[in-house]
Amino acid sequence: MESASALNVVPKLMAYRIAALVRFFVVRAWKSVAMTGNGSDRFDVVVVGGGPAGLAAAASAAECGVRVALVDDQVDFGGQVWRAQANDQQAPAVDWIRTLELAGVQLFRGTRVFDWGSGNVLRAEQGDQLCEIGYHKLILATGARERFLPFPGWTLPNVMGAGGLQALVKSGLVIKDKRVVIAGTGPLLLAVAAYVRQRGANLLLICEQAARAALARFTFGLLGHPKKVGQSLALLKATRGVRFVTESAIIAAHGTRVLEQVEISVAGKNEIIACDYLAAGFHLVPNTELPALVGCQLENGYVAVDEYQQTSKAGTYCAGEPTGIGGLELALMEGQIAGFAAAGHHRLAKKFFSRRNQLRRFASAMNRAFALREELRNHTLAETIVCRCEDVTYSQLQKHRSWRAAKLDTRCGMGPCQGRICGPATQFLLNWSLDAPRPPVWPAAVEHLGTSIEGPQPEYSRIVRSA
Ligand SMILES: Cc1cc2nc3c(=O)[nH]c(=O)nc-3n(C[C@H](O)[C@H](O)[C@H](O)COP(=O)(O)OP(=O)(O)OC[C@H]3O[C@@H](n4cnc5c(N)ncnc54)[C@H](O)[C@@H]3O)c2cc1C
Repeated sequence: MESASALNVVPKLMAYRIAALVRFFVVRAWKSVAMTGNGSDRFDVVVVGGGPAGLAAAASAAECGVRVALVDDQVDFGGQVWRAQANDQQAPAVDWIRTLELAGVQLFRGTRVFDWGSGNVLRAEQGDQLCEIGYHKLILATGARERFLPFPGWTLPNVMGAGGLQALVKSGLVIKDKRVVIAGTGPLLLAVAAYVRQRGANLLLICEQAARAALARFTFGLLGHPKKVGQSLALLKATRGVRFVTESAIIAAHGTRVLEQVEISVAGKNEIIACDYLAAGFHLVPNTELPALVGCQLENGYVAVDEYQQTSKAGTYCAGEPTGIGGLELALMEGQIAGFAAAGHHRLAKKFFSRRNQLRRFASAMNRAFALREELRNHTLAETIVCRCEDVTYSQLQKHRSWRAAKLDTRCGMGPCQGRICGPATQFLLNWSLDAPRPPVWPAAVEHLGTSIEGPQPEYSRIVRSA
């Protein structure tokens, strides 16, 4: 995975950043008169998502002297990969944030966009406040989330996602000497395995569902990407000596009140392993709900974009994982392209095309290697809960022929996660396609639904006005 490469990027970023700042002040001095002159009080570019893609997009757009806002639903920017480093002054995320602050980008922390209004207005909640944020151009960098596949016992305490275990340890969970099994599929498993082992976990086993041949092909493909070879070797070194099995599956998690054992099948043979934590994640699925709500076309479940990262909706761009799962460096490349393009500087955007295309080819090979094996469908039993929000079992869903029919009958996908967990699971288990999202794409206060703030639309309301 990408964490190692982030370090190589810093020196280059520093040089690039100094040049960028010089260019920024020159452009800004030239442009500021024109911009404010025309009296527009909307942001020129609004970026939703403060992960690597969003940070890079906002910094690149701001560097072109336009007025930019960056919105993220977490208090700390950085997204899935950098958020936990937000207070580490040496961390890449802090570097990007410093650039944004210097460039006068308006930062909306802890602000979750749940709806989009015609007239290019985003509606978000910041605590109990409703924010309406107007824009000319929009960049959606809403990232990805882990896919979970239901199996008997997956709702037991201490059974969680791979990224979930990593996030808990990042926020203080003591994992030292705890017996941990990591299972599922995807490069995230190794990143999390290395992470928890470096913090003293007793890592018993890593269960990868992909077949050995698929992994061998992928590993061979790494040779064309020296940086990835370096990262993979670092992860392999950090997990040296840990049992690693392929073509495996989780049969069940066992325990009376909390996880006690995990039952796995490796090449068709079952095994029971006593453990304290089971981290089970099945690669990533894109957060496409907001892009779809805004009207961006999806292709094969991802937001379709052109070479400048513009979506099917003119003036709306998308960068990072919603356009295809590809990791940190690809997110940074796409973010910069979208940022420069949205600010009208296509020549600057073009500079990142070749590296982006190279990383996209790598990402496609990665996603092919970790595609889910058909057999995995056999491990969700009739009584297994699939929708955790509404306690809907597999057998209740199997009575139906579509997501919509099941939803109307069982309320599957109508709980707090709005189908973000059971939706992708039923797409795999039952080949169902999900409905187009309807607002709100995240739960929001009733009084914020459907209403819009009366009178002329200020840039955003009930908070502060930009300088
Ligand atoms: C759980 C998990 C752990 C990961 N760990 C690693 C790792 O250790 N190393 C690694 O290299 N890669 C890791 N990845 C892969 C990671 O997705 C990419 O490397 C990279 O972070 C992608 O950047 P991004 O900007 O596209 O998305 P993200 O980093 O996911 O950032 C998207 C941001 O948008 C915010 N957002 C989404 N919707 C809204 C909304 N409606 N309103 C406001 N804000 C919104 C999200 O909260 C998030 O902060 C992980 C992914 C996941 C899901």
